[in-house]
Amino acid sequence: MVEVSRKKAYNQSVASKKSRKERQNMSNTIPYKIYLEENEMPKQWYNVRADMKNKPAPILNPATMKPITVEELSPIFCEELARQELDDTTAYFDIPQEIRDFYKMYRPSPLTRAYCLEKKLDTPAHIYYKFEGNNTSGSHKLNSAIAQAYYAKKQGLKGVTTETGAGQWGTALSMACSYFDLDCQVYMVKVSYEQKPFRREVMRTYGAKVTPSPSMLTNVGRKINEEFPGTTGSLGCAISEAVEAATAQEGYRYVLGSVLSQVLLHQTIIGLETKSALDKYGIKADMIIGCAGGGSNLGGLISPFAGEMLRGEADYEIIAVEPASCPSLTRGVYAYDYCDTGKICPLAKMYTLGSGFIPSANHAGGLRYHGMSSIVSQLYDDGIITARSVEQTEVFQAAQTFARVEGILPAPESSHAIRVAIDEALKCKETGEEKNIVFGLTGTGYFDMVAYQRFNDGEMQDYIPTDEELAKSLASLPKVK
Ligand SMILES: *Cc1c(COP(=O)(O)O)cnc(C)c1O
Repeated sequence: MVEVSRKKAYNQSVASKKSRKERQNMSNTIPYKIYLEENEMPKQWYNVRADMKNKPAPILNPATMKPITVEELSPIFCEELARQELDDTTAYFDIPQEIRDFYKMYRPSPLTRAYCLEKKLDTPAHIYYKFEGNNTSGSHKLNSAIAQAYYAKKQGLKGVTTETGAGQWGTALSMACSYFDLDCQVYMVKVSYEQKPFRREVMRTYGAKVTPSPSMLTNVGRKINEEFPGTTGSLGCAISEAVEAATAQEGYRYVLGSVLSQVLLHQTIIGLETKSALDKYGIKADMIIGCAGGGSNLGGLISPFAGEMLRGEADYEIIAVEPASCPSLTRGVYAYDYCDTGKICPLAKMYTLGSGFIPSANHAGGLRYHGMSSIVSQLYDDGIITARSVEQTEVFQAAQTFARVEGILPAPESSHAIRVAIDEALKCKETGEEKNIVFGLTGTGYFDMVAYQRFNDGEMQDYIPTDEELAKSLASLPKVK
C-alpha cells in the first residue's frame, strides 16, 4: 500500500503491476546497455503537435506578419521540409528508406543504465541515459542533418547553405551532404572559425566549403565588414549570410539545425527509441530530463512521453534544463519574436529573451540561442514540461563526475541534463525513492576542451544576467497583434 501511494506515477504502468520484489529482480537483469535490434528502429517520426489541444502559434512571414504558407517558405526551405514545418495534424511521418539506411550506421543508439554513477552517488534511483554522441559529428544533430540533406537531394537541388557557431551543426550537415553528394556551404562565425580550426577541418574533410562570417561573398557580409571593420562576427550575421547565399544561387536552399518544428520532428527518433528500449524491460520512467538550446533534442526525446500525457495515458515529470546565463524558458517571455538577429527569418511565438540577446562572453557551456522551439514553448506554457536553469560551474562539476565514472567525456550542453539528473538522484537518496530517471546525453565534448581547460584551471565563472539586461533585449520584441 505504501508502495502505491508513494509512486502514483507507477499506477498505470506495466512495471507497477509487478511486485516490488519482481521489479527488483528484473532491474538486476537490466544490462548496462539496452540495445535495440536494427529492425526495432522506428520507421516513422512522431509529430507531437497532432496530440496537442493547444497548437503552437503559426509562424509568421516577416514581410506581411501573416501566417506563412508552404509556397512562401519554399524559396528558402526545401518543399517537403516546409510542409513538415507547417503540419500540426499528421501524427506520424514515414522515415524514408534512404534515411533509415544512413541511420543504421550509428543507430539505434544505446540507452545506458548508469550503474557506476548510481554507485558513486549512492542513490536508490535508477539512472538511464540515451547517448547520441556515437557518430563523427559527436551529437544528435546528424539525425536531422541527414533528413534535410535527403529532401534537398530528392528535390533535385545542387546544395544547401547554413550557419554554424561552435561547429557541431556544420559538421553534421557536411557529413550528410557528402553522403548524398550535395554541395554544402557553411558560414562559420569568424571567431569560431579561427578558434576552432579542428571543427573546420572536419567539415572540409567531408567536402564542405567553410567561410568565416562576415565574409565578402554576400551583400550583407560586405556591408557588415564595412560598418564594423575587424568584427569577429555573430550567429545572427552568419544566418543572414547563409540565407542570402541560398536565395542568390540557383538550386540552393537554406537549412537550420534546431528550433524549427521539422528539426524537432526528425529528433523524435531519440525519444521513440528510448521508449521502445524502456518498454522492452518493463521500465516506467518517472522523470525525463534534457538540455534545451533551441529545443530540438529535448523535444525529440520527450515527444512520445509528452504525447502519452496529452492523451491522458500516463504521467511523467519532464524537465528542460537551460543555462542560467541564457534562460529563455525560466526568465523569458512567451511572445512572437524573430528567429535570427538579422530579422529576415519567419517569426515564431516562443519563450524568448529577445533576438538581440547575446549571452555573456564568459559563457562557455553552449545552449546560447535566444529563443525556444515553438512546440517546447507551448508544452511548457501548458504545464506539460517544467524548466530549470543551472550555472556553468556546477554543470562542469557534473560533467567531471560523470566522465570519471561513466567513461564518456560529455559535451558541456549535455552536462546541463547530467547536473539535474545528479541533483534528482541525490534527492532520492534523502527520500529513499527508487525513481527511474532518464536523461538525454546529446554528445561528446572533445571539441570543447578550451572550456574544460578553464574549468580545470579554476578560471570558470558564473554569470547571471540582471533583470535590467533582460528588459533591455526584450524591449526590442516586434509588436505583433
Ligand atoms: C546543439 C547541441 C545541443 C543543443 O541542442 P538543441 O536541440 O538546439 O537544444 C545540445 N547538445 C549538443 C551536444 C549539441 O551539439
